[in-house]
Parts: sequence; structure tokens; C-alpha cells
Amino acid sequence: MLKDKEQTIIEVQQLKKSFGDDVVLKDISETVKAGQVICVIGPSGAGKSTFLRCLNVLEEPTSGKVLFEGSDLTGIKEEELNHLRQKMGMVFQSFNLFPNLTVLDNLQLAPLKVRRLSADQAQKQAHKLLTQVGLADKAAEYPASLSGGQQQRVAIARALAMDPEVMLFDEPTSALDPEMVGEVLKVMRDLAHSGMTMVVVTHEMGFAKEVADQIWFMADGYIQEKGKPEDFFAHPKTERAQDFLSKIL
Ligand code: ADP
Ligand code: MG
Repeated sequence: MLKDKEQTIIEVQQLKKSFGDDVVLKDISETVKAGQVICVIGPSGAGKSTFLRCLNVLEEPTSGKVLFEGSDLTGIKEEELNHLRQKMGMVFQSFNLFPNLTVLDNLQLAPLKVRRLSADQAQKQAHKLLTQVGLADKAAEYPASLSGGQQQRVAIARALAMDPEVMLFDEPTSALDPEMVGEVLKVMRDLAHSGMTMVVVTHEMGFAKEVADQIWFMADGYIQEKGKPEDFFAHPKTERAQDFLSKIL
């Protein structure tokens, strides 16, 4: 998936999001370029999940624009939105696999129904993706028989089965037992190295340091500070970031 590195994949313009009187995102304007890996970090309640959900308009912004490859996702028809949204894979803390389907069927369902791949194409792709996430031998299993780490890797493979342009991750390892975090981060690291454009909300600072092109530090509904990981972690500029890092590192 070699892309023009200057190509803008997501552009957010003056994004604001309120829930009632609660102004959660105050004024965010940022761009994500092709192949970039952005790690969004910050304290609980900062608005990180809301921000991520605004990127694919799972939350409708109160004002501002979200452009995906140049198309404004705000205020468009549901059908058009769904079409564009297919190109944005999302992985949540909870894996949300279909419990009544095998791993293989979890991976084939949307490609068959939405992308209209042939049965043969969908099956080939599913096996390829299972190999990519290290679960080639689990195709016939049901989700309940897999560990949390394995289920999350299936969830990543399922998102990839839609052939997305960008992958959004919201704390994908937060619900996992510690010994399973590494296997999921490895899949994400490999994906980043393959050139996938990624926006990752995470508390895994080791991963962020190693894999991110940019850290976006969020607090109080703003991106307070952003920079290369080596700069941000060694020399955070804002007091908010210094305070946050002093508590977690
Ligand atoms: P983070 O992911 O950084 O912990 P969130 O985006 O989940 O932060 O939440 C930011 C704030 O927005 C919190 O105060 C939360 O209660 C509020 N919030 C998030 N989603 C909703 C919602 N659907 N309705 C009302 N308030 C919400
Ligand atoms: Mg969150």
C-alpha cells in the first residue's frame, strides 16, 4: 500500500463536540497524512475516544468539519457516510466479534455482503489475514474459545478485511490481561511498518515511543501539544504534559 506520503487522509477543521452543556472537544484542527502513525495520549476524560469517534462520525461533531480523503463526512447522507466509513477500520477496547460465527465467518461476513467479494476471494483473504495476525490455525474456532489477545487480533484482521485506508484504534489493549498485550501490539507494530495509516489512542507509552510518527497529547478537549515521540517524551513543553508524564512514567 505505497502511497504518496504527502496525501492527506484525514483533515479535521475546527472540530467541536458537546454533550448537552458539556463541551468535550473544544477546537481541534489537525491532519493525518498517508502512512503516518499518530498516537493520541492523555488523561482519562480528556476526550480521546470522542475525538476518535468523530473521525469516522460515529459521533456527529457539534461544529467543524471532518474530511476523509477530501470528502466532508459531516452533514452527508447516511448511505454516503457508510460508504466512506468502510475505508476507516476501527478497533475498540472490547472486541465485539460475532459470537455465533466462526473466526473465518467473522472475517468473511462484511467482505461478502458489503464489498461483494466472491466466496473464494473472501475466504482467501480471510486466511491471509489470519496468517498476518498469527492465527492461521484458528479459522474454525468460535470467539469464545479464544483468549482476549487472540480475539483482539481477530478483530484487527476483521477491520483489515474491509481493505481500509486508515485504521483507528481506541485503547485496543486496555481490556487485556497483561500477558496478552504484547501479541496485540506486535500485530499493530507490523501493520504500522507495512505503511498503514493509523490513529491509535493508547496508554502503552513504550509502543507510542517506538512506533508513532507523532504524539498528540490531549487534555481538556484540546490537543495541547504534539511532536515526535523522542521530543515529546524527553522534553514535554506544556505543564499539562509534564504533569501527565510525571504520573505515568
Ligand atoms: P477519554 O477517552 O479521553 O477518556 P471520552 O472521550 O471518553 O474521554 O470522554 C470525554 C468526556 O465526554 C467525558 O466527560 C465523558 O463523560 C463525556 N462523554 C463521552 N461520551 C459521551 C456521551 N455519549 N454522552 C455524554 N457525555 C459523554
Ligand atoms: Mg477513551
